[in-house]
Amino acid sequence: MAEKGFNAYKMAQDQFDAVAEKLELDQASRNLLREPLREYHFSIPVRMDDGTYRVFKGFRVQHNDARGPCKGGIRFHPQETADTVRALAMWMTWKCAVADIPLGGGKGGVICDPHDLSMREQEGICRGWVRQVYQNVGPFKDVPAPDVMTSGQHMLWMLDEYEKLSGGKYPGFITGKPVGMGGSLGRTEATGYGVIYHTREALKDLEMDISKTTAAVQGFGNVAQYTIELYNQYGGTVKCVSCWNQQEKKAYTFVKEEGIYLKELRSITDRYGSIDFDKAKAMGYERIPGDDWIEMNVDILIPAALENSITASNVDRIDKRVKLVSEGANGPTTPEADSVLSSRKIMVIPDFLANAGGVTCSYFEQVQCNMNYYWSRDEVLGKLDEKMTQAFHGVLDLTKHRNIPLRESAYMIAISRVAEACHLRGWI
Ligand code: NAD
Repeated sequence: MAEKGFNAYKMAQDQFDAVAEKLELDQASRNLLREPLREYHFSIPVRMDDGTYRVFKGFRVQHNDARGPCKGGIRFHPQETADTVRALAMWMTWKCAVADIPLGGGKGGVICDPHDLSMREQEGICRGWVRQVYQNVGPFKDVPAPDVMTSGQHMLWMLDEYEKLSGGKYPGFITGKPVGMGGSLGRTEATGYGVIYHTREALKDLEMDISKTTAAVQGFGNVAQYTIELYNQYGGTVKCVSCWNQQEKKAYTFVKEEGIYLKELRSITDRYGSIDFDKAKAMGYERIPGDDWIEMNVDILIPAALENSITASNVDRIDKRVKLVSEGANGPTTPEADSVLSSRKIMVIPDFLANAGGVTCSYFEQVQCNMNYYWSRDEVLGKLDEKMTQAFHGVLDLTKHRNIPLRESAYMIAISRVAEACHLRGWI
């Protein structure tokens, strides 16, 4: 969640303004795209388990739907703000556009702390959220998904409420559902695998053989584990992973010079992505401070944990061997660190391109639900690989043509696609 004084919406608007300037976008397009098209703010009254009532504040922001129905998660968080939801909705628009999937950007949230709520109370919030906005969302308008502190179970309660209100079966209303209840095979691994599809293509461009490369990974949760799984399948070696230790309230890095063994580390990791130190030690892992993953002597750095992990204060610790940074997490590199990486000619695959595998697979879930016909895991992952590879090369081509970083090209492609859709529809 945001640091004090930091405003994600202002940052998203500043990023947009800078790219709009480079694209020489007309003023009307700038005015339209730097703010959400629509937003809904509402109150959700819920009867609590002790018989009292509480009212929760909910949001849905639809940043832009010129390219297709809005898409984006619903977050449950005690510090949720309208501005955070606006920024995240805008970033979803750019992510869907750079991946070239026919969707716009949206985001939702509820100010609440699920840790203090029973499952029944959370169900009340989910159903109440849908009751407030059901006429403005739907499979062909705006499709929510799980996000921070929401899960497949929350999505099923929301779907059930939506179907009760609309009197039909609309599994394409929401994604992130469990497999067998309208969920897509391949979704669990999609984000991590997507990171590696991009990484594989970047390494080809750098003329490096992926099977001879080494990597350091920050994080050991969903994105990190599936990134490592596919990277290992291509023959790459991960020398270390880092994770958070809840008891000690600090992060640690677990190192094995000859390469970590994913299966054994998974077997000693809890569902929050924390590795058991004593068991790791017995398996021959060395434990060093959490931040030290950044100074490993490897070819690739993969931040796949949280935002602001490569900063002005640690970017100089990056080893001179590093050629590529693949941003699995959202916002892992600060703008100051980004310019240093750029001046050192380290290629950076920007977050909204690198981790677009997740939303692309959610789009596949939506398509399968709307057809009521489900694909095999191989079909899903094959289509995902194709989409990610195309997206990467589109961005790389512009980077080469204009001699600019991948992040800038990715933003330029995304924003110009959305601006063009608005023009073609005759909006501006
Ligand atoms: P997760 O909760 O499954 O895992 C997070 C991991 O980060 C855990 O291993 C945790 O121990 C570790 N961690 C937390 N703080 C740390 C620290 N200070 N140092 C080192 N490790 C730390 O989360 P996830 O789903 O894997 O998501 C990771 C990132 O990827 C987030 O930025 C998320 O927004 C982004 N992302 C996720 C998806 C997805 O489909 N899951 C899609 C797009 C983007």
